Amino acid sequence: MTRWVRSVAAGVVLAIFCAGALTRAQQSAPDFILTNGKIITVDEKFTIAQAVAIKGERVIAVGTSQQIGQMAGPATRRIDLRGRAVVPGLIDNHMHLLRAGTTWTREVRLDGVESRKHALDLFAARAKAIAAGDWVYTIGGWSVDQFGDSRSKFTREELDRIVPNHPVAIQESYYRTYLNSRGLEAFGIRDGAADPPDFPKGSIVRDGSGRATGIVEGGMGAVRAIAAKMPRVPDSELEASTLAMIRDMNRAGLTAFGVAGCDPSLVAMYRKWEAQHQLNVRIFCIDGVGAGTPEQVDRALPRIAEMKLFQGDDYVDSVLYGESVYGPLHDPMFDSTSDPKPEQLAQWRRLAMEIAKNRLPLHVHAELTHTIDAFLDQIEAVNKVYPVKNLRWMLAHFNQSNASQIERMKRLGMYAAVHPWNVINGGIMHEIFGDDAYEQPPLATIQNSGIVWGFGSDGSAANQYMPFITLNYAVTGKMTSGLKVMRQTISREDALIAYTRRNAFFVFQEDNLGAIQPGKLADLVVLDRDYLTIPADQIKDIKPVLTMVGGRIVYDTSAVNSTK
Ligand SMILES: [Zn+2]
Repeated sequence: MTRWVRSVAAGVVLAIFCAGALTRAQQSAPDFILTNGKIITVDEKFTIAQAVAIKGERVIAVGTSQQIGQMAGPATRRIDLRGRAVVPGLIDNHMHLLRAGTTWTREVRLDGVESRKHALDLFAARAKAIAAGDWVYTIGGWSVDQFGDSRSKFTREELDRIVPNHPVAIQESYYRTYLNSRGLEAFGIRDGAADPPDFPKGSIVRDGSGRATGIVEGGMGAVRAIAAKMPRVPDSELEASTLAMIRDMNRAGLTAFGVAGCDPSLVAMYRKWEAQHQLNVRIFCIDGVGAGTPEQVDRALPRIAEMKLFQGDDYVDSVLYGESVYGPLHDPMFDSTSDPKPEQLAQWRRLAMEIAKNRLPLHVHAELTHTIDAFLDQIEAVNKVYPVKNLRWMLAHFNQSNASQIERMKRLGMYAAVHPWNVINGGIMHEIFGDDAYEQPPLATIQNSGIVWGFGSDGSAANQYMPFITLNYAVTGKMTSGLKVMRQTISREDALIAYTRRNAFFVFQEDNLGAIQPGKLADLVVLDRDYLTIPADQIKDIKPVLTMVGGRIVYDTSAVNSTK
């Protein structure tokens, strides 16, 4: 549907409602009614309702079960929620979604896996399912500290025992990789011999006798050298892999994403599904013009001036510049500190000036405290020439932020896209930053400051993607293992708002998404238990039982979908 037709349709729906009378709406009966539930609307008043009516792709009414029940016509499909809670479709403001689809079905994903035993079972099952010699691998999204039964590192012997006949490479976040004997062999890593040259010095961990332990340290450099060698799905399986990933997203309650890095050839696939009315997530791209040297900045400036955002619709669009502005100032994950140089910042400012001049929204990776300060210095200078207020400029990740930086951002009219890496990296970050990691991110400080902020995962390698695990963390400060890694907890309500209504604003869809309200698109999730009242430590265990995108059921478990 074109943008024009969509907005006319929305206008018609709104007109019906503004007329106010349920009898009028009845003439145009809803396609769906969901009744006898607890509708957590996440509207501005955080209204709780019992029922919702949907026509076409939009919500047309929210109210009591009786009010909504009266709207049903003969063709209306009824869903009896039997007391279940419903929330708006969850929105992740920063996920490397398109990239993840190129390996999804080949990886053994460990997002949300709470025990080491379960993880080992998954490796064994994968080995059984693939041809001898094929890789058993995963590219991040987990760490051993999420396991409740044992948080010790995987050993070469353990992986050999579970998977003797396939090479294994299990990447832990962007921090280290575990290889079995066949994996070591495949990378030319031999006991008692020199390390292969493509690994950073000292990254291959050996015991006293020179035997490789299977552990490869060395942070992103070493991790990426291994990940680059892992097989992508062949072109013939790309669609199936991406669809399987989208289904996993819907199963987790996700319906829309800010997507960092949108390869045009992959976007074309999503557009094709949209044209067929089969696209089950909405993608809002964060894309930029890469520049890593002054000469590249020279070439990037005219390209920025030519950038055209907002050419798409409410399923697929490009809405933000990012996530990198100037390559040398992109904080690598797990560096302990940064030291941005004046000449680098001068290049960053040239690019930011051009982005502001062209009134482009900006979503920029800014993690370490010195980097955040230095970027804010540049943005304050840019702001004197081209005011950034109302451009929706936001700093992303933002784990090492502090109150004074937040105040500077508020004065500039900026926002925070918060991606708490501690959700899976809590153990690692405590190793690197000590007790400071308890304040990374300073969630309560951010919330109490009044700055507009939203949640993202930065999945699928740097973090896991499941929103209820992030919400559990935000409310309890704990990883899935129960390990307390963050002190600045916030309320369930504030955490949910940051995953829905705020993120709708962050992807320029505040008129369409982020709350269950008449006129908005019917993206919603029925939950197996009530997010607002279950013990906080069980938030991570919440399972969506039905997910709807634009009034279409995209995921359901048969128990709830008692339609007639
Ligand atoms: Zn980033």
